[in-house]
Amino acid sequence: IKKIGVFTSGGDSPGMNAAIRAVVRSALYYNLEVVGIRRGYEGMILGEFIPMDRKSVGNIIQRGGTVLRTARSPEFRTKEGRQEAYKQLKAQNIDALVAIGGDGTFTGAKIFGEEFDFPILGLPGTIDNDLFGTDFTIGYDTSINNVVEAIDRIRDTAESHSRLFVVEVMGRDCGLIALRSGIGVGAESIFIPETKTDMEAVMHRLEIGRQDKMSKILIVAEGEGESGGAMEISEKLKKRFPHYDIRVSILGHIQRGGKPTCMDRVLASRLGVAAVESLMEGRRNEMVGLLNGKIAFTPFDHAIKHHVEINKDLFKIVDILSL
Ligand code: ATP
Repeated sequence: IKKIGVFTSGGDSPGMNAAIRAVVRSALYYNLEVVGIRRGYEGMILGEFIPMDRKSVGNIIQRGGTVLRTARSPEFRTKEGRQEAYKQLKAQNIDALVAIGGDGTFTGAKIFGEEFDFPILGLPGTIDNDLFGTDFTIGYDTSINNVVEAIDRIRDTAESHSRLFVVEVMGRDCGLIALRSGIGVGAESIFIPETKTDMEAVMHRLEIGRQDKMSKILIVAEGEGESGGAMEISEKLKKRFPHYDIRVSILGHIQRGGKPTCMDRVLASRLGVAAVESLMEGRRNEMVGLLNGKIAFTPFDHAIKHHVEINKDLFKIVDILSL
């Protein structure tokens, strides 16, 4: 391998810049050439390549988002689109890729890698923490800290006005943001897509719970469909607790932005270096993750299978500590 291409794709996540920096600097350390590809697969197809040197990734480790920008590319889903991408990579003499993204990005990488016999390794860059084969994804820690900070503010005002807040957080298919931040803010209940929430039990807990606690926080992952999402949950609660002042807050995109935490920066740095070293050793078609503190490789098709299990003990912790 002589020349590596690096790109970010799909949803952005804080820490992607630290990952780009790590890939670029370690490639240069090992005397490889390295090229940044703008806007993921879209830029690959359109030939948006930028040669990278040490300076081009200076002063970005602390910045959220991705300097290479990101995109969703419907064209890459077609054989013609991928053929064009391959042509562009060949024209640049790029002979290996590091893809930073989530399950969609890895699905594309797997198909492309097999179709053109092209070495690709993936770094888990998504706030959802929904990839199998890594304890944490790059961006998850920052995101849950953003959520905790926002809900701490909501708690102040909720406590002052004796309000109940239903807070919607990100997580279309995965409730890990809701679950972990919920523990972090001392939420009364958490609703996530993976498990069915017994609304009656939630209401009962509110009734028997501490009456001296003026504020209540319920966290709902956006993909929680069973109970109808934040709005419907609040309507149900209003019927049962007419005396309570109930509000809904949808945190939205503030969850994805901002400076990455040190944990995300270190994770991104470790995985970026490991990706370059492993490409040189001939590894391909895998996601590089961190399991129990050690670098671990998971084939793309395993990483994306969505069998990340929810730790039931965490749910129990919410129940024990919120009463
Ligand atoms: P996040 O989980 O944060 O949303 P992601 O990587 O899963 O990130 P997607 O938008 O699902 O984001 O995927 C990114 C890109 O990967 C898509 O826009 C598309 O170009 C490519 N991709 C996804 N699925 C496929 C597929 N089946 N075949 C080819 N390319 C694909």
